[in-house]
Amino acid sequence: MTGSGRPVVIAHRGASGYLPEHTLPGKALAHGMGADFLEQDVVASSDGQLLVFHDLHLDQLTDVGRQFPGRARPDGRHYCIDFSLQELRTLTVTERQRGDGSGPRFPARFPANTGSFRIPTLEEELDLIQGLNRSTGRRAGVYAEIKAPGWHTEHRFGLGDRLLETLRAFGYRTAADGFFVQCFCAAELRRVRARYGGDVPLIQLLDDAGDVSREALAAIAGYAQGIGPTIGMAWPDRGLVSRARESGLLIHPYTFRADDLPEGFRTFTELLTPFIELLEVDGLFTDFPDLVIAHIRQRG
Ligand code: CA
Repeated sequence: MTGSGRPVVIAHRGASGYLPEHTLPGKALAHGMGADFLEQDVVASSDGQLLVFHDLHLDQLTDVGRQFPGRARPDGRHYCIDFSLQELRTLTVTERQRGDGSGPRFPARFPANTGSFRIPTLEEELDLIQGLNRSTGRRAGVYAEIKAPGWHTEHRFGLGDRLLETLRAFGYRTAADGFFVQCFCAAELRRVRARYGGDVPLIQLLDDAGDVSREALAAIAGYAQGIGPTIGMAWPDRGLVSRARESGLLIHPYTFRADDLPEGFRTFTELLTPFIELLEVDGLFTDFPDLVIAHIRQRG
């Protein structure tokens, strides 16, 4: 929740309903729309640079196959960690394509293969956010995810430490600085907690297979400030939210998309209403920050 008691609006990969995900224009738009937090998925390049990019491989979001023929692994994919920052800078980012090559994942969104979008580094994105915070006089927070920490460790890269050190260099140390660190991996969050202390606000992401028993949530509360469950875990069964509250955990469910409603919901308003007005979640990940903010304003 914000100070005013409404849930925080987390721009999921930026204003990704309108511009390709994790591009600086998409982040600027989300900032301008009034999102409380802008999300970063963080992965590494071969030369140890931190990139804001969702996938471990580049194929569904860039023209890597055309630009770097012969650089795929045996599985046919081109991995971020096999390319230097200099190489990655030459790629054009596009609207997300389906894995089977059958076209865009969200057909009504920004047209594919249009524009001149690039993969940003984490530092470039933090510069953009802090610059906008200054020029607009409105602070948007940072909400960074340690992506596949075990996979990065296998590639001899300590992603979590590099991410935390970069955030610190930009002034993000405690919740008061306006940030969260999120991860699906409990062991990594426990490690971050032990190394950087309890002031770093941590969110345990959960997928549908996650253990959300009372005991499991109490254990999460021992190292994290909140949980990020799926929409389906939190509603219509209200048990998870009430158990999480008992443990004192924040609840930030994902992902609210106006153009990809879960089964049983006819409109975006119908989806938002139970989460905001009945469950009173503390925050929401959304591809459409403007629509969530408008909903909250309208309902007072
Ligand atoms: Ca994420």
